[in-house]
Amino acid sequence: MAHFYSGPYTTERPILARPDFEPGHINPDGSSHIPGRSRPKRTRPEVEGILPRTLLQESARDQRSSPFCKADSSLDTGAIYQLLKAKGQPNDARATFIWQNSAPPRVQLFMWLLLRGRIQCRTILLKKNVVQDAVCEVCREAEETPEHIISGCTISKQFWEKLGFTVIIGMPVDSIHNLTPTSTIPTQEFSTFVAFACWQLRKARNAAVFRNELKTQAQVFAECRNTAMLWRARMPRRKKGVADQWCQLFEMARQP
Ligand SMILES: [Zn+2]
Repeated sequence: MAHFYSGPYTTERPILARPDFEPGHINPDGSSHIPGRSRPKRTRPEVEGILPRTLLQESARDQRSSPFCKADSSLDTGAIYQLLKAKGQPNDARATFIWQNSAPPRVQLFMWLLLRGRIQCRTILLKKNVVQDAVCEVCREAEETPEHIISGCTISKQFWEKLGFTVIIGMPVDSIHNLTPTSTIPTQEFSTFVAFACWQLRKARNAAVFRNELKTQAQVFAECRNTAMLWRARMPRRKKGVADQWCQLFEMARQP
């Protein structure tokens, strides 16, 4: 059996111990090198969080789990086609909300999946027979639907309440593009803000589910503020003031 932790790619350290390891970046000579920014260092703890929960069975068939997979694990080329098509339709209100903003591409993709109700959640995994039930692992009070992740679960609900943006609570995810800013949220780059908040909630949730790190509300907002400072750096100069307002908003929300 091939050993997962070490292989032909490295001689000094196991793959998982290398913060810069990213599958798909293997050079012909067997070395791995990533130009520019390296992979976030949280990859290893994330994997370590998942491993104890993973049970490999000799008889079980491999199952692929991705938003672009059908229930039978085959690739859903229709969804990929729709993604490519959606990117070319800037005049549609939903497409504008998703793509015409300063969010990083992977967050835009997340929002595209979210508005289609296709982000990874237990109701979808249940349909694909990956899990036995759809109950939310954080609150255990409801099924984990895309809506539950974004605004129904304890973390998300309290998050929006603290920001004074309760209008999003319970809203179907396919209508999120109809949201309009309230007085507490800057109008400029509003869709970037919504994408940012949903992405941060998703991150906080993954920390709770996969690493058993249930963050306090103050910690979630502190992380929002820190990440908003990073997003600020990639925004055009004329829009940096918007990110500054977000930072202030999160800093205020962080206070008890
Ligand atoms: Zn929940």
